[in-house]
Amino acid sequence: MPESTQIMVVTAHPDDAEFGAAGTVARWAGEGRIIVYIVCSSGEKGTSDLNMKPEKLAKIREQEQLTAAKLLGVREVVFLRYPDQELEDTPGFRKDIVRQIRKYRPQIVVTADPYRRYIWHRDHRITGQVTLDAIFPYARDHLAYPDLLEEGLGPHKVKEALFWGTDDPNHRSDITKTFDIKLAALRCHKSQIGYDLAPDVEKWLRQRAKEMAKGENFELAEAFHRVEIHW
Ligand SMILES: [Zn+2]
Repeated sequence: MPESTQIMVVTAHPDDAEFGAAGTVARWAGEGRIIVYIVCSSGEKGTSDLNMKPEKLAKIREQEQLTAAKLLGVREVVFLRYPDQELEDTPGFRKDIVRQIRKYRPQIVVTADPYRRYIWHRDHRITGQVTLDAIFPYARDHLAYPDLLEEGLGPHKVKEALFWGTDDPNHRSDITKTFDIKLAALRCHKSQIGYDLAPDVEKWLRQRAKEMAKGENFELAEAFHRVEIHW
């Protein structure tokens, strides 16, 4: 199975991928592409409920992520269980992402844009940066991690990276037919959105998707900064 994975989505928290890329993920799954999610932390600090315990929230959010991923047609979800709000650009974290890239061997990696300015969750910024560095050059260079080679995880060249939450979109992905599945996937994250998506949130998401599709011949889009890797 791993060798046929085509798309890897790397997120800091459960629900990030649904906000950033679920419409695109659902379209890809519908085209028969094999998608894996790598969820770096389980989001155990994401609550305003004073009675919620982090261990309990981590379990709830992992379950919500699994439900959303299943609905979208994602093949596999890997939880790395780094502490929420404590992701750092460390050699260990980078190596963990390299390990996943070398294991699943995706053509496309999708993650948060590390270069979004000002208000951006630090975990998103760090996950984007570490993933970008893991793609190039660390996953590619066989001498980067001789011990991974010994584990049978040889070098791998990712062909394309897509970054959501970008200030500089250069790629608009058609989600006209999958927008409703995106909403349904977001609704799986009840600990984050409440019992249901508030009507104004749904309206805002639709409006944003319309704006992202401006200039295209389709109605609704998710926007990314897209980078092709030729080296
Ligand atoms: Zn997040």
